[in-house]
Amino acid sequence: MGQRRGIPFVISAPSGTGKTSVCRRVVDADPLIIHSVSHTTRAPRAGERDGSDYHFVSDKEFRRLAEAGAFLEYAEYGGHLYGTGSGELDATLARGLDVLLEIEVQGAAQIREGRADARLVFLLPPSREELERRLRGRGTDAPEVVDRRLALARRELEAIRLFDYAIVNDDLELAVTQVREVLAAEREGRAADARARHGREVVLQRLGPRFDKLR
Ligand code: ADP
Ligand code: 5GP
Repeated sequence: MGQRRGIPFVISAPSGTGKTSVCRRVVDADPLIIHSVSHTTRAPRAGERDGSDYHFVSDKEFRRLAEAGAFLEYAEYGGHLYGTGSGELDATLARGLDVLLEIEVQGAAQIREGRADARLVFLLPPSREELERRLRGRGTDAPEVVDRRLALARRELEAIRLFDYAIVNDDLELAVTQVREVLAAEREGRAADARARHGREVVLQRLGPRFDKLR
């Protein structure tokens, strides 16, 4: 029997929703999924380490890599470039491990187009007010950067239609549990179970007018 090939799981959300918080906990709790380390031209934030949070590269180096076809997907976000290296991803999947890609929605759309093996999870903030509170409360971005990210969030929410699953990050531990339910079901060939509970349409219906208020 051939070795199992891993599954690429994409997690996207408007900035500030809690992607990093959720993904960190999912990866810490599960040795069979590896966090994909992206390339970016943005400067490191305090505490971020090269090669572990991101591969921090110059604009010139990023463009060279893009031209060489090194990225599975890449996009500009907030004036910086971000991309997923395809070599690293495929090597991990070939080892039978799953990969968690924490990326913004333009990149997720490219993966939707090009990778039939990928499963896409959209994280939703509980409300617009809470999204703003989290973005400002994180304290990592200047107020004008936060304003830009909030304005972008409106458009990013429209991309939910491309995703397989939707999960509301209200209570962090619950959101982590729900992401792990999706992972487990997909691995075990029980996607129908996961879709019945966390499928995008099911969740949107559950939210009803609450989703419209997010936009
Ligand atoms: P993202 O990666 O989507 O930009 P972060 O994971 O950096 O978001 O989270 C943004 C801020 O919100 C952080 O300060 C984080 O601690 C906080 N946060 C994340 N999830 C929750 C939650 N469920 N409840 C309250 N605060 C949260
Ligand atoms: P931040 O600057 O807050 O780390 O990231 C900004 C946005 O870029 C986030 O939504 C983050 O998920 C996204 N991002 C990080 N890495 C990648 C990547 O490789 N590709 C794409 N398309 N987006 C990414």
